[in-house]
Amino acid sequence: DNELTGADARAWLLAFADRVVADADELTELDRQAGDGDFGWNIGSALKRARANLDGDDPAAVFQSGSDTFLASGGTSGPLFGLWFGRLGAGPSASWSVPDLAGAFETATGAVRRLGKAEVGHKTMVDAMVPATHALATTGSSHWREALREAAVAARAGAESTSGMVAHRGRASYLGERAREVLDPGAVSIAWFFEAADGI
Ligand code: ADP
Ligand code: MG
Ligand code: MG
Repeated sequence: DNELTGADARAWLLAFADRVVADADELTELDRQAGDGDFGWNIGSALKRARANLDGDDPAAVFQSGSDTFLASGGTSGPLFGLWFGRLGAGPSASWSVPDLAGAFETATGAVRRLGKAEVGHKTMVDAMVPATHALATTGSSHWREALREAAVAARAGAESTSGMVAHRGRASYLGERAREVLDPGAVSIAWFFEAADGI
């Protein structure tokens, strides 16, 4: 089937949660090198709670049900992820076509950029969100699996690009040149999010 269903969205978020919980130490280590070392805990604890609360018949409802636990979680990333999933929750209340997916991520990523005052090159989660969103908007594929596979490749490349950047937002910006070679953990987690759709 070409359209993402609520069941697909639930499986996707669960796969993302499993990845983050399994590999939280990797994210924490990056945040330790470029921040305060709590990122794996912040996102992992929010996703553990989200895992127990996921609910809904369409993707929008599923993403909405996952957003609240982020708003309540600690760190700068909590409200940003909460907003991202919350805006996805404002998407169409039926199965999502590829254009629906593209539109929903366009809205959600735009909201995070505005709240964080972050653009590509600032070494944040936005460095992975923007190319993934662009891939969804420009894909020639009409199947969500293939479109999300392209988004994952773009998000991964965006995350990798943060090594070599001096941060302009968040705690890593306090370290300047000293954190240049460190991957941004927020951007890595966004790559994991899109990669989690592969294989569900
Ligand atoms: P804190 O610095 O409060 O401990 P977290 O560890 O929860 O924050 O989250 C750090 C992540 O948040 C970073 O890796 C980065 O991707 C993201 N981030 C930080 N500031 C911003 C911002 N202004 N806009 C977008 N993302 C940001
Ligand atoms: Mg932190
Ligand atoms: Mg912190």
